[in-house]
Amino acid sequence: MTQPAYRGRFAPSPTGPLHFGSLVAAVGSFLDARTQGGAWLVRMEDVDSERNVPGADADILRTLEALGFEWNGPVLYQSRRGEAYAAALERLQAAGLAYGCACSRREVADSASGHAVDGGLVYPGTCRDGLPPGRPARAWRLRVPAAEVAFDDRIQGRLAQVLARDVGDFVLRRADGPFAYQLAVAVDDEFQAISDVVRGADLIASTPRQIWLLHCLGYPVPSYAHLPVATNAAGEKLSKQTRAPALVAGQAAADLVAALRFLGQPAPEALAVASPAEVWAWAFANWSFAAVPRQAESLAARG
Ligand code: GLU
Repeated sequence: MTQPAYRGRFAPSPTGPLHFGSLVAAVGSFLDARTQGGAWLVRMEDVDSERNVPGADADILRTLEALGFEWNGPVLYQSRRGEAYAAALERLQAAGLAYGCACSRREVADSASGHAVDGGLVYPGTCRDGLPPGRPARAWRLRVPAAEVAFDDRIQGRLAQVLARDVGDFVLRRADGPFAYQLAVAVDDEFQAISDVVRGADLIASTPRQIWLLHCLGYPVPSYAHLPVATNAAGEKLSKQTRAPALVAGQAAADLVAALRFLGQPAPEALAVASPAEVWAWAFANWSFAAVPRQAESLAARG
């Protein structure tokens, strides 16, 4: 059997400008794809319109261009994929895998059987066997198994979750709201024929849910590599919520060098004042996936 062609992706959420944390994910996924002769796609994860910042998508793409990234094909916007997500949800409903849930937030909070791996609550399955009489569905949830879902991460090693215990039946769509990130990602990774997911380790706890969804939909499961996550001095993940500073225009080479060094690649500091093309030439010639650390070194240790 021939190996499927390598297809990687970078999937930013347009909730703000590109910052160092998302740059690290872009650099890692891009180099892993390109050094294996693979394609690299960009997907705008704007499925939750309430979190989107107008113009952030164009801003992110401009910044990626200025940094010298080149992607294959048009950018896929999740906001235009509603029909595909609806079709997937219908299939799961028809197969009895997704069910309507009438519980309010309050009811879930009062009945939860514990804290989920992502800090949420484990839904105890109240509506699993049918809606309470006279109550409409407020959300659609996926039935999860009591057996282990495991995968071998290329960087982090083996991770296993018992979804029934660690997550509970999770939401695919709120009745009148957007589709959930988990469903959109699973459907789009298949649609874009992604063979290799390389992204930040802040998303690793979502991976068993996405694998289970892919399995329920009869889709192939990609290979996963979760990169160390950049944090600020307080140890918080860089994100819009922690007010990570946007990358500053005109510092493209320095930003790329910093991202490479963060990923364990000894890019010479002198490249920081070179052009992005020169940094990429060094990176293509010297990229070592094996040198990517499992965890971020503390900033203090980097000196
Ligand atoms: N949109 C997610 C984020 O920006 C990334 C999702 C993914 O790579 O699967 O954190």
